[in-house]
Amino acid sequence: MDLEQTKIPQATAKRLPLYYRFLNNLHSQGKMRVSSKELSEAVKVDSATIRRDFSYFGALGKKGYGYNVEYLLSFFRKTLDQDETTKVALIGVGNLGTAFLNYNFTKNNNTKIEVAFDANYDRVGQEVGGVPVEHIDNLEKKMGDLSVAILTVPASAAQGIADRLVEAGVSGILNFTPARISVPANVRVHHIDLSIELQALVYFLKHYPLSEMQE
Ligand code: ATP
Repeated sequence: MDLEQTKIPQATAKRLPLYYRFLNNLHSQGKMRVSSKELSEAVKVDSATIRRDFSYFGALGKKGYGYNVEYLLSFFRKTLDQDETTKVALIGVGNLGTAFLNYNFTKNNNTKIEVAFDANYDRVGQEVGGVPVEHIDNLEKKMGDLSVAILTVPASAAQGIADRLVEAGVSGILNFTPARISVPANVRVHHIDLSIELQALVYFLKHYPLSEMQE
């Protein structure tokens, strides 16, 4: 099922993988149902939001029963295309890139880094986390039909590589560099700047201690 077609709000769509992971755990423990309160505590999303999110999926929890785990799982599997593994490329096998290659994404969701690229000949030809590292010069040749890429190169290299990825047919980029990259309107970029996230957390802790918050 296509999320765009079903008009699930983007904020809801972003929470789907979170729900999916937790429900999968419940399912493997043999649990048949779950309440929105339980879900709320586990995924740290308030239960009113969960109820609203789930209503988009046609999953209406019953009072005193909760949600049917099996039903939700099969919905999420279809919606998130979990029956099919999405193959991903990673560009930049430095510290962060290496950590991602060693991290087993398939454990919790169905994405798999299939190939990595780097400019450094010391890394090229090696396997990191079971993934072959190719030279960046061979990007177009070795990308195949992969449509998603993780960018862990230095900021200065980000735009140039993004341009090549787009040219090679990539439609989604997870950008871990601090650089804001420009891409055509039909390409989606999700930007994750870990140092800014950390800074923001420290700032919030200082200025908005949780005990003073309303919710
Ligand atoms: P390290 O300690 O290995 O340098 P790092 O993550 O601090 O790790 P960065 O300078 O951020 O290093 O570079 C990340 C990786 O991106 C490195 O492996 C580097 O060789 C690679 N890289 C740099 N420029 C390019 C490029 N133009 N194309 C592809 N890979 C590149």
